[in-house]
Amino acid sequence: MVKERARILVVGGGYVGMYTALRLQRKLKHELGRGEAEITVVTPDPYMTYQPFLPEAAAGAISPRHVVVPLRRVLPHCRVLIGEITAVDHAKRTATLATPATAEEGTGPRQLPYDELVLAPGSVSRTLPVPGLAEYGIGFKTVEEAIGLRNHVIEQMDIASSTRDPAIRDAALTFVFVGGGFAGVEALGELEDMARYTTRYYHNVEPEDMKWILVEASGRILPEVGEEMGRYAVSELRRRNIDVRLETRLESCADRVAVLSDGSRFPTRTVVWTAGVKPHPLLAATDLPLTARGRLRCTPRLAVEGVPHAWAAGDAAAVPDVTAGPGQETAPNAQHAVRQAGLLADNIAHSLRGEPLETYAHAYVGSVASLGLHKGVAHVYGRRLKGYPAWFMHRAYHLSRVPTFNRKARVLAEWTLSGLFKREIVSLGSLEHPRAEFELAAGGKPSGDGTDHTDGKRAQDPRRQEGGDDPFG
Ligand SMILES: Cc1cc2nc3c(=O)[nH]c(=O)nc-3n(C[C@H](O)[C@H](O)[C@H](O)COP(=O)(O)OP(=O)(O)OC[C@H]3O[C@@H](n4cnc5c(N)ncnc54)[C@H](O)[C@@H]3O)c2cc1C
Repeated sequence: MVKERARILVVGGGYVGMYTALRLQRKLKHELGRGEAEITVVTPDPYMTYQPFLPEAAAGAISPRHVVVPLRRVLPHCRVLIGEITAVDHAKRTATLATPATAEEGTGPRQLPYDELVLAPGSVSRTLPVPGLAEYGIGFKTVEEAIGLRNHVIEQMDIASSTRDPAIRDAALTFVFVGGGFAGVEALGELEDMARYTTRYYHNVEPEDMKWILVEASGRILPEVGEEMGRYAVSELRRRNIDVRLETRLESCADRVAVLSDGSRFPTRTVVWTAGVKPHPLLAATDLPLTARGRLRCTPRLAVEGVPHAWAAGDAAAVPDVTAGPGQETAPNAQHAVRQAGLLADNIAHSLRGEPLETYAHAYVGSVASLGLHKGVAHVYGRRLKGYPAWFMHRAYHLSRVPTFNRKARVLAEWTLSGLFKREIVSLGSLEHPRAEFELAAGGKPSGDGTDHTDGKRAQDPRRQEGGDDPFG
């Protein structure tokens, strides 16, 4: 029984948003039934993305639909609103909501009143003012980016295969990844593996024709798996002819030439930027306290410090790590996000019922990372694994973690089928621009933004602009 009627607003439908809402709808089942509580989840997409599967989605081992969880299906007792919270006035307990409908109606954003706030918009890519990055860089945080990158890599192979210009061919077959964390290393490892396999089906592209470059500013990669396994990952990637450049930075990618701090220059059509994350800019549009790094200042009970009825967790929250030394915060990763979400929901229920709150205490248990099919590294509970056992552990761990039985069954079925049949090598780049063909047929302009989206598809089209500004083009 709650003390007062509570309208709970959950901002974000990612790890924290979805798991908090899932647990809240279970914990507050009776209150929801009696109308004493109401849960609203606001998120730009109607699905939660299981980000650790993005590299496998890019490699074609898992289909994009199975990397995401439909929120309306798993949250039947919550109100799911598709849109974005653009500001929060917690003193007045209102959030500003922009939805696709408010844009169409021209009425401007709506004010959404609430009693309890869960702020979990996660993080965004941390970019630097590198010339050319905004024009040509490709991120790797969403399922759309992962699939776009897969299509793009295969399209580059098509361009290389069909051009007679060696400079275009070299640039098409040069792939630069910036950032040696989970996202960059796994994406590169999986895509290189996929591209190497795909060359079997090209009469004039060999694996050794491709240049895969990993640029990392520090002296190691994958810090999450420890120093020894990080060193192993470097040697494994180098064994595959991947050019790993440590203590090196990308200085420019203007004019589609990647210029590195060691003086080297690589003409390329692919610069994937995975050099870390920063807190979501929405946090700065609230009246809630932030740390110097822009995360929400939280207590170990996952309440926003000094502010009643506001809660946070995951990448957006600076939660003191009570298992480490003073001043340490929990790292922005899924391991913490999932566990924090559960405790956050429990603490909201406790708080509504006037019960004491629990403290978040979880010591990091280590990590697993895939480096491509049958290759990986792991450092979990003090145990170090590499090669096939680490890769197997990576799959088993993530299969156990991906939300819902439905998704687990589908992912397992896909893995089983891909073990029985040959890899999928198709690129459906034109899916991103489904009207392009019809626009051409109808005599219209190929695309509203004037860029070329049809690489390799309509090379004979006179309107095709070689090297347009679209990073996926
Ligand atoms: C490619 C990749 C691989 C990764 N692999 C691993 C791994 O192997 N292990 C690991 O521990 N971690 C991994 N991570 C990190 C992990 O995914 C994140 O730490 C985790 O997603 C954080 O959860 P979150 O809920 O804070 O943010 P998210 O899961 O990012 O969720 C944020 C949500 O908020 C929504 N949102 C954004 N803005 C607004 C707004 N204005 N209004 C409303 N909603 C908004 C977003 O659309 C999203 O749904 C990986 C990340 C990436 C990108």
